[in-house]
Amino acid sequence: MNTATNPALAAMLGDIACGAIRVIDLTNILSSDFPVIVLPSEFGQCEPFRMETVSRYDGNGPAWYWNNISMNEHTGTHFDAPAHWITGRDIPNGTVDAIPAEDFIHPAVVIDIADEAAADDDFIVTRGFLEEWEKQNGAIPARHWVLLRSNWSKRVGTLSYLNLKDDGAHSPGPDADAMRFLVHERDCIGLGVETVGTDAGQASLFDEPLPAHSILHGNGRFGLQCLTNLDQLPVFGSVIVATPLKIKGGSGSPLRVIAMAPSKD
Ligand code: MN
Repeated sequence: MNTATNPALAAMLGDIACGAIRVIDLTNILSSDFPVIVLPSEFGQCEPFRMETVSRYDGNGPAWYWNNISMNEHTGTHFDAPAHWITGRDIPNGTVDAIPAEDFIHPAVVIDIADEAAADDDFIVTRGFLEEWEKQNGAIPARHWVLLRSNWSKRVGTLSYLNLKDDGAHSPGPDADAMRFLVHERDCIGLGVETVGTDAGQASLFDEPLPAHSILHGNGRFGLQCLTNLDQLPVFGSVIVATPLKIKGGSGSPLRVIAMAPSKD
């Protein structure tokens, strides 16, 4: 029997071991104080993370430590499956347990909107912005995650992360034409964001409401939210591993998202 690791996998492992490939954690810490999306009060709400100790080397378990945990599927750094949205309700394999495992590993392109989002909490990514970005950086390759680096993750731990005002949340996101461009003309795998939703904070008021959710999931694409450390990724050349929990019929799941990227040297 040949027990040697496949050469391509062995090369990758060697590159990780020597640092030629960096492994970057794109995940926020899951804790009870991590903010969750807030919907208008007439709708059901997203439960935050909760943790209750069962035992910690004590009378309830003298040699072991463990906790009971509960949360919404969309709490913390999390994955949105097509079935999350009404437009994706009939997509085959649209729940987290049914998505093929190959779809959990894809390359990524990182689009920097940090300056624009710093200047305008409600910055909208338009088709025109993406076309101008491509002129500067090159075309968005097919079958990539598109990651929006807004630097919103730097706001975690402050009220400006959800950025709720009297008229709702204020955070950046795409409009419908940008989403159609990414899905139909660039064949993206999905959209990953640092904010609490793939849609902008005010996107329920758009002419085409909540276009990221509607267009991504209606076309079988995915979402990643509450990412961090996107500033450590190159524009091109990273690979994202994003594996949601295998929840039967689940619409999404908290997860650990890791990226592999070439060394900066
Ligand atoms: Mn979600």
